[in-house]
Amino acid sequence: MNTDATGTTEGDPLQCELRFMKGVGPHRAAELERAGLRTADDLLHRFPIRFEDRSRLRRSTDLRPGEAAAVCGEVVSVGLRRTRRRGFTLFEMLLRDDAGMFRVVWMNQPFLQDVFSPGQRVALYGKVEWRDPGGLRLTNPQYELTGREGDDDDGMHTGRIVPVYERIGSLTTKLLRRLVYDVLQRLSPALEDPLPPALRRRHALPGRREALSASHFPAPETSLELLNRFRSPAQTRLIFEELFLFQLGLGLRRRAHAEGRKSTLIRVDDTIRRSALAVLPFRLTPGQKSALRTIVDDMRRPRPMNRLLQGDVGCGKTIVALLAALVVMENGLQVAFMAPTELLAEQHSLSIGRLLAASRFRVTCLTGSAGAKARRETVTAIETGAADLVVGTHALVQREIRFRALGLAIIDEQHRFGVLQRATLRDKGRQPDVLVMTATPIPRTLALTSYGDLDVSVIRDLPPGRRPVKTKLEPESHRDAVYEFVRRRLREGRQAYVVYPLVEESAKTDLKAATTMAETLAVLFRDSTVGLLHGRMKPEERDAVMRCFAAGTVHLLVATTVVEVGVDVPNATVMVVEHAERFGLAQLHQLRGRVGRGPHPSYCRLLYQRPLSEMARARLKAVSGTTDGFDIAEQDLQLRGPGEMLGTRQSGVPTLRVADLIRDHDLMETARREAFAALRDASVATSVLVRLDETWTERFGLASVG
Ligand code: ADP
Ligand code: MG
Repeated sequence: MNTDATGTTEGDPLQCELRFMKGVGPHRAAELERAGLRTADDLLHRFPIRFEDRSRLRRSTDLRPGEAAAVCGEVVSVGLRRTRRRGFTLFEMLLRDDAGMFRVVWMNQPFLQDVFSPGQRVALYGKVEWRDPGGLRLTNPQYELTGREGDDDDGMHTGRIVPVYERIGSLTTKLLRRLVYDVLQRLSPALEDPLPPALRRRHALPGRREALSASHFPAPETSLELLNRFRSPAQTRLIFEELFLFQLGLGLRRRAHAEGRKSTLIRVDDTIRRSALAVLPFRLTPGQKSALRTIVDDMRRPRPMNRLLQGDVGCGKTIVALLAALVVMENGLQVAFMAPTELLAEQHSLSIGRLLAASRFRVTCLTGSAGAKARRETVTAIETGAADLVVGTHALVQREIRFRALGLAIIDEQHRFGVLQRATLRDKGRQPDVLVMTATPIPRTLALTSYGDLDVSVIRDLPPGRRPVKTKLEPESHRDAVYEFVRRRLREGRQAYVVYPLVEESAKTDLKAATTMAETLAVLFRDSTVGLLHGRMKPEERDAVMRCFAAGTVHLLVATTVVEVGVDVPNATVMVVEHAERFGLAQLHQLRGRVGRGPHPSYCRLLYQRPLSEMARARLKAVSGTTDGFDIAEQDLQLRGPGEMLGTRQSGVPTLRVADLIRDHDLMETARREAFAALRDASVATSVLVRLDETWTERFGLASVG
């Protein structure tokens, strides 16, 4: 980088380092750096948390009780008063403006003694009250020291719409405002603009320089309401820019993928259709049919498929994937079916094996726990092509696994996998088709980001005869009644789950809780067989228990969350969740999805312990309020935020500086459309693509995404 003595960087003024700015010593520079702010660019993209309209300052004589008002004045006197109520303090201030004097009061903020002293100028914003006795006063206002008269020569602190920043270390909102102001002053009037002019005109977006400036110091006529919703034209433009570049990156990746050519074309004829129908144990729902049609259409194209199949728990994604697999195998290619847990892999391999028993295709299972000999045999079968369909865990993506001719990679419950594994599996074949399945419905916003390079199909319906699971919240004190309820269902010949939370830090004690509980329940449910299932068991043991449960010889299954994903026992109709307050929303929904998979009415009982945190209450309310997975996913996103929801960068949630995936989902849609259009338009594309350098690929977390 080419830096001269004043710290300006030739070429890009936004890269000027903050430590060279006036008023920023080494101490403050370090504080800024710790907050992730090193350059002018960093600072300008850290936006005010809100704006205050100090352009219409109220004179003290014009204050009306009941309204919120901005006033400015000089401190005349201050004092702390204790009141008759113990431990209660009033900090009082007398303020003078051009029109006269007025009183300001703060409750229980004695430290203000150290903030204010006579002679200071302050800006206040707060509620006007009338008290008898005492008269008109401002109560608990927000405040800011604006400096002595004459200090504020640029008028940046009062008399305008002022930005309010979140404090960084010792840098108050006022200092930050000054710094932003100075940085903006030094920017040249013309900044390079990555948005094509036609696009800007179409969406009435201001230029980059103007947008940066007005996002901090808006013009007087700007709507305060828009500003505080991050929807002023300037803010909109910067948000849009970020989303546009992000989608452009996704689009590029998608294009690179689409340019690939499969080594073997997939064909579909009547023989293949008949062979697929032969394994089908039931009629597909309309949703399954249409998903399958899209998938098969994809697979017949010369470019590899890259599709996400979304559908709520129990909607029947597996059979759709299996039919797609059949088509591929009929074409002489192999299929890899990757599941997130051994249990699930084994279960898939069993059920798929059963369905394909009469066919000529061979199903094998490869998990981490297979013995050395069995493993060697499986690996050889994969290499020689003797195995047509391989079900497995992440063991499938290990290096020594080589497929003879992998045509389709199916990834079940994608949210459990790192995205890297998705890429590795894809690399196992020469451009195989990829089908990703998830039962954690992904809100549209996230689907456009972390899965933005995938085509998406959604199954919205459930197989016929399903009745929604009846969900009830029950406090611990109702435990006996809940057990009695379970007992009645067991007597009717149904089966039940009792699930315990397993928190990692205290895995041992929790495990003990589950083990002890299984013992207690074995006594309480003397007429039934009680089984125990947890993650610390050997896979064979786990498998044995699960098999007994599936076969109906174990009636009540006490388990940790290992049953969360995919397990399918239609005769199980009751799900009791202990300590439901400790589970995440998506998790609760997944657990509930273990029941309601057969013809019998099903129930979910969520036992919770008080006191409930606000979050826990919201989660429980959400899960008992709806059985719609998409609804749940939206609420989960609201409650947890996108990063938490998909789990860190690895899942491809971009790190955005300006945009907010929830707040700005509408802009994301537009940005995506525009970005994809720009990619089709060669002239636009080349001018913009220059910007897609490594820095921002990394920033958006695209580099690691497969
Ligand atoms: P998920 O989408 O959660 O993976 P599964 O594929 O495990 O759901 O299917 C759930 C259950 O529904 C399975 O027992 C499956 O056999 C059954 N099923 C799937 N599709 C249908 C259908 N069209 N008609 C009847 N039962 C179906
Ligand atoms: Mg499934």
